[in-house]
Amino acid sequence: GNHLSSPNLLINVLFSLFSKASDLQIQLAEPEQLHPKPDPEKLTFGKHFTDHMLSVEWSGKMGWGKPYITPLQNISLHPGAKVFHYAIELFEGMKAHRGIDERIRLFRPDQNMMRMISTSHRSALPGFSGYEFLKCLKKLIWIDQEWVPHSQGSSLYIRPTFIGTDVSFFLGCLKSLPPALGVARSERALLYVVLCPVGPYFATGMKPVSLLADPMYVRAWPGGCGDKKVGSNYGPTIYIQKVAEKMGVQQILWLFGNDHQLTEVGTMNIFVYLINDKGEKELVTPPLDGLILPGVTRRSLLEMARSWSEFKVSERRITMKEVVKACKENRLLEIFGAGTACIVCPVNKIYYQKDVLEIPTMDHPFPLNQRFLKDLQDIQYGQVKHPWAVDI
Ligand code: PMP
Repeated sequence: GNHLSSPNLLINVLFSLFSKASDLQIQLAEPEQLHPKPDPEKLTFGKHFTDHMLSVEWSGKMGWGKPYITPLQNISLHPGAKVFHYAIELFEGMKAHRGIDERIRLFRPDQNMMRMISTSHRSALPGFSGYEFLKCLKKLIWIDQEWVPHSQGSSLYIRPTFIGTDVSFFLGCLKSLPPALGVARSERALLYVVLCPVGPYFATGMKPVSLLADPMYVRAWPGGCGDKKVGSNYGPTIYIQKVAEKMGVQQILWLFGNDHQLTEVGTMNIFVYLINDKGEKELVTPPLDGLILPGVTRRSLLEMARSWSEFKVSERRITMKEVVKACKENRLLEIFGAGTACIVCPVNKIYYQKDVLEIPTMDHPFPLNQRFLKDLQDIQYGQVKHPWAVDI
């Protein structure tokens, strides 16, 4: 038969298009190009960047070019580049941690690679070898290793980014050239990685957050790309975040559908821990039905909770009606967000229609969300040996 009809073979062909990590070209920053390291006590999220970056170019004609590590530098693009017009942009968010033994480890980086490749596919950008990419990324972190903070709770945030860099919108205007539709697949693209040292998310201790749950605002919908990490999912949420802040509420609880299903909180997956109407303790998180991002933290918490076998663990739809009822009947134990930035983020209030729900998330002797936090951090900082923590 036709060998290209085998999906595995096709994937292998796509993967082999990524340049080899052994082709990596390294240009180190000159001493005068090195940036002063920020005060470890004042690491604001995303404000500081390390000295180097990783870049790899792709073109439809030539495939993947050589990977480069260079000093952190500006990118120069034609103003018609697709990223500026049709938001052909996607990204990842992952972390490296300096362990108690001084070794630097990534947390489940294979998961981020898989998600990035799937988002790339949805953006009509090429696939690549997560394995070769990770090898280059590890080298970048190794070069900038002094930027990985030394304090427990701090880490190096890693931002892989993939953008469409070619120009197409004006081609249709030039009579001599065949007309090209503006909205078309990118024929050139740039994959790059920048690194930011970040402090503990809750610098002054765990502070629960309040949420605005207004069904008027929708983050994602069936058939859309809510399950992909494209920049265009995020830009339009900032205005709604501002609406919440004006009301004195910290984050958005994203609802979907006429039954007001809970989907995500801010840029995190959501977990609800309750006593269900059968009287059982149950940890609920919405299913991967295309509406939510398949979070690495979400997956990790589910796997941990299932390994404990102490309570029911469900990936199922959960509606505001169920949450309000459980809350009124004192069966609602905890609600928390889960994501790379904070690991867990406890919720203490939800503003929903005319109700203000008070959630006792942190009012237990040892809340479940804090147990998750401790167990994950023990893995990330090397207190416990675990296959999820990968040496650079
Ligand atoms: N949902 C959204 C919308 C996000 O942006 C993120 C952050 N990547 C998450 C959930 C959590 O995903 P992860 O645990 O992989 O960081």
